[in-house]
Amino acid sequence: MTTGWNFHELYLWHETGAAAQFFQPSLTIEPGEHAENAATKRRFRNLMEVSGLTDKLAKIASVAVSEDDLALFHDRDYISRIKTLSDGRGGDASYLTPFGHGSYEIACLAAGGTAAVMDAVLSGDVGNGYALVRPPGHHAERAQGMGFCLFGNVPVAILKNRAKHGFGRVATVDWDVHHGNGTQSAFYADPSVLTISIHQDGLYPHDSGFHKERGEGKGEGYNINVPLPAGCGHGAYMSVFERIVLPALYRYQPDLIVVPSGFDASAADPLGRMMLHSASYREMTRMLMQAADDLCGGRLMMSHEGGYSAAYVPYCGLAVMEQLSGIRTHIDDPFLPVFEGYAGQPLQPHQADAIARAEELLGGVE
Ligand SMILES: [Zn+2]
Repeated sequence: MTTGWNFHELYLWHETGAAAQFFQPSLTIEPGEHAENAATKRRFRNLMEVSGLTDKLAKIASVAVSEDDLALFHDRDYISRIKTLSDGRGGDASYLTPFGHGSYEIACLAAGGTAAVMDAVLSGDVGNGYALVRPPGHHAERAQGMGFCLFGNVPVAILKNRAKHGFGRVATVDWDVHHGNGTQSAFYADPSVLTISIHQDGLYPHDSGFHKERGEGKGEGYNINVPLPAGCGHGAYMSVFERIVLPALYRYQPDLIVVPSGFDASAADPLGRMMLHSASYREMTRMLMQAADDLCGGRLMMSHEGGYSAAYVPYCGLAVMEQLSGIRTHIDDPFLPVFEGYAGQPLQPHQADAIARAEELLGGVE
């Protein structure tokens, strides 16, 4: 089976404007480039081209989602507010989410690219797939954008595809270093979507991502947050997968596994304080593929989220794509020997304690 690949040039044209990291310029903050800019995505796409891997994948076209599709998750007033601002000079979707003219259409393409890859996987046209989309989506909530995200690409794609394919259960495994609060909120009362987020404790948003957020009503038990202390490396993430993610998936038995895929838990990231490297992402992908093979005919897809190291995101992304496709290219990750050698890469006792506390949440999944 081939691996699907979605990219659209317009993803790179979404404007986040001048900023220093994410602060708007002022007389005390020198203008620079916003942390969420096109470079990481462009360089991921470019490394895929240089490696030759893009040519071996099934290209999946972006088809913009409609306003009705967005409204499967989002509040109509919020959608029209973004559209109106986007038709003009842009604005801010609320906190930390600046955008320019035309970003509404680009965001509809990003959700549409995610939905199209998911559709191709569910239809059996491809075995698995990746949507390299922008803007990202996992922080966007029903009536507000947040954290560089306008619309919830993954929630919209799941709800749109559920209407078409009628599948039963979906599991999301969010390995972005920030809490997937938007995806969590979309399915908080819905036991047919198991949402798992592995993130740096208290990073962003500051006030969510805790163990106690387990879902509500019929959805209680079907949201698992794994907040980890800053400084976790390869060993801690392997332990999270072995002790929490995989057992949760085998208990839940999903029909599809979806990864909101951020590469900001890497050792090079300016916004996160974790230490993963390309071999970590390769191994996490391998484990999810094994679970998908065992549970749901291999149906696994990923939608791009964060990751802010322009130099390193491409190598993490390529490792994931090599693993998904089963094709090893001639490209070696030049950073890997450096990051693998960092002290603290193996699981540390205080990290094991944090993981053990999250492991108790498995009992809610049936
Ligand atoms: Zn992130």
